[in-house]
Amino acid sequence: MPAVAALAAPSARAPFERTTIERREPGPHDVVIDIAFAGICHSDIHTARDEWGAAHYPLVVGHEIAGIVSAVGSEVTRFAVGDHAGVGCFVDSCRECENCLAGVEQYCLKGMRGTYNAPLPEGHPEGAYTQGGYSRQIVVDEGYTLRIPGSIPLDKAAPLLCAGITLYSPLRHWGAGPGKKVAIIGMGGLGHMGVKLAAALGAEVTVLGHSLSKQEDGLRFGATRYLSTADPETFRELRRSQDLIISTVSAPSDLDRILSLLRRDGALVNVGLPEEPIGISPFSLAGQRLSVSGSMIGGIRETQEMLDFCAEHGVTPEIELVTADEVDAAWDRVVASDVRYRFVIDAATI
Ligand code: NAP
Ligand code: ZN
Ligand code: ZN
Repeated sequence: MPAVAALAAPSARAPFERTTIERREPGPHDVVIDIAFAGICHSDIHTARDEWGAAHYPLVVGHEIAGIVSAVGSEVTRFAVGDHAGVGCFVDSCRECENCLAGVEQYCLKGMRGTYNAPLPEGHPEGAYTQGGYSRQIVVDEGYTLRIPGSIPLDKAAPLLCAGITLYSPLRHWGAGPGKKVAIIGMGGLGHMGVKLAAALGAEVTVLGHSLSKQEDGLRFGATRYLSTADPETFRELRRSQDLIISTVSAPSDLDRILSLLRRDGALVNVGLPEEPIGISPFSLAGQRLSVSGSMIGGIRETQEMLDFCAEHGVTPEIELVTADEVDAAWDRVVASDVRYRFVIDAATI
C-alpha cells in the first residue's frame, strides 16, 4: 500500500508535523477505511504529551475515526466498498479470554490493542506501534470496525466512537433511565455526550461544571439543572440526592465532596483519567454504602448499540471542525476547557 499522509507528534512538547505512515495490505478479514474525520479526545493529549508516561514517537494519535470503506478483504462479510464505517479506541484483542468472549474486548485480559501507541508484533508491516486516526486511511479487521448509521453525518459520528461510548456504557451498566437521578461532572467532549445520552435514556440529569459558563448549553442538551462545584450552595442543594454520578473531569478533583451528593447505594463512576491518583476517605463510602468505580470505553457490540441508539434518538455531538493546521491550537483550547464541545479534524486537510 502507498504511504498514508498523517499528522504526527514528534515529541511530548513539539508542534505537529506532517508525515507519512505505513498501512498494511488488507488481509482477508480487513477493511480499508478512507478517513473523513477524526475527533480530538483529551486522551490524545494526555498520551502525546506523555502525561501517562508511555508515549512512542513519532506518534499519530486519534481514536474517534469515521470514514468510507474503500476496499475489503476477500472474507469480509459485513462491509462493502462505499459503506460508512468507524473505528474507536482499539483495533484488536486476544479474542479468546473471558472478557473478549463476553463482548467486552476493552477489558481483554491480554490487553486490547489500542488504535495508537500500542506495540505491534515484530516485523509488522505497519511498524513497531499502531498509528491512529489523524491520518488519511486506516486498515482494520472487520470485527473491530463499526457500522455508522446513514442518518448520522460522518463528522458528527466520529466523537461517538470514544466520547459517546465512554458515557453510554456506564449509563447503561448502572441503569440510567426513568426515575433515576444522574449527575455528570465536567461538560467537555465526554460530559456533553453524557448529558445528551442520559437525557435520551430518560434519566433526570444534573450537570456539575467548575463554573456556570456553559449553563445554557447544558440545559439545551437535556439537563434539568446546571450547578457549579465552585459554589458551596451546590453541595447543600444536591446533598444525598443522586443515584449515579459520572465524573469526566480531566484534572484532579475533590471526590469526597462529590460523594456527599449520592443517595444510599449510589455509585460514583470516574471516567476522567488525570495522571494523579484519586484520594477518597473510607468514611465517605461507608456511611451510605456507596461505590466508586471506573469504566473504560465499551466493547464492539455495545459501541454498535450506542451508534444505533444515537441514530434512533437523534443524539449527536456538538462539534467544531478544524483543519490539520489548527490542531495545535485546538489542543491548547481543550486543555483550557475552551471546547464547544468536540473538535473534529477534517482529514482531507491532512
Ligand atoms: P475535555 O473535553 O477536555 O473535558 C474535560 C472537562 O473536565 C472540562 O470540560 C472541564 O469541565 C473539566 N475540567 C478540566 N480541567 C479542569 C479543572 N482544572 N478543574 C475542574 N474541572 C476541569 O476532555 P474529554 O475528552 O471529555 O476527556 C475527559 C477525561 O476523560 C480525560 O482525562 C480523558 O483522558 C478521559 N477519557 C477517558 C476514557 C475512558 O474510557 N475512561 C475515554 C476517553 C477519555 P467543565 O468546564 O464543564 O467544568
Ligand atoms: Zn478518547
Ligand atoms: Zn481477550
